Amino acid sequence: CGIVGYIGHRQAYPVIIKGLERLEYRGYDSAGVALFDEGEISLSKTKGKVADLKRISEASSNIQGMCGIGHTRWATHGIPDDLNAHPHFSNSGNLVIVHNGIIENYDAIKKALIGRGYTFHSETDTEVLINLIEDVKKNEQVKLGKAVQIALQQVVGAYAIAVFDKSKPDEIIVAKLGSPLAIGVGEEEFFIASDASPFIEYTNNAIYLEDEQMAIVRLGRDIKVRQIENDALV
Ligand code: GLU
Repeated sequence: CGIVGYIGHRQAYPVIIKGLERLEYRGYDSAGVALFDEGEISLSKTKGKVADLKRISEASSNIQGMCGIGHTRWATHGIPDDLNAHPHFSNSGNLVIVHNGIIENYDAIKKALIGRGYTFHSETDTEVLINLIEDVKKNEQVKLGKAVQIALQQVVGAYAIAVFDKSKPDEIIVAKLGSPLAIGVGEEEFFIASDASPFIEYTNNAIYLEDEQMAIVRLGRDIKVRQIENDALV
């Protein structure tokens, strides 16, 4: 299972696909990619190999965009199929997430969200997390980074995540507990990946998040790393 993300001045799709191929050794059953282009997110995902993802995305989706997140899934909650493959949207369609790991208390959170009117299209713990983030963002009237932090404070489990908000396309939020996550820092561009192999040819400046850390990866700004439990987020 693996995560690859990109934000910068290159086309994100080839960077992400090549990166996912480099992470294939980690094992997986499904693959997917979400790309941001001209105000919209285009999503392709499928059970199977990265080669299958390439075939369907290049045949039927917009693969343009200089920001995107990709994923290879090793199913823990929900069978390996197209619907359970990542990325996953929030109910509003504004937020999108990729996740490696397990949200152990997803069932209780899911029930609470259903009680507040949320609906679910997959069986994954991941779709619960992105809707929890959306719920926090709406109720607390906070920015995405703060919403991710508050949501993760309620989560028991293990994760590496990358989250993107279509109304804030210059930014990707990442967080880690238990699963690995690295950020590659280039010139006016950032790479996100489970290990450095997807971005080694672009930069040798890597930041490895530690457990219970998150980072705001925003174009035109230095990376801000925060403790999930403690630091105030700007
Ligand atoms: N628990 C998530 C799922 O089943 C993520 C699995 C993974 O690590 O790829 O979809």
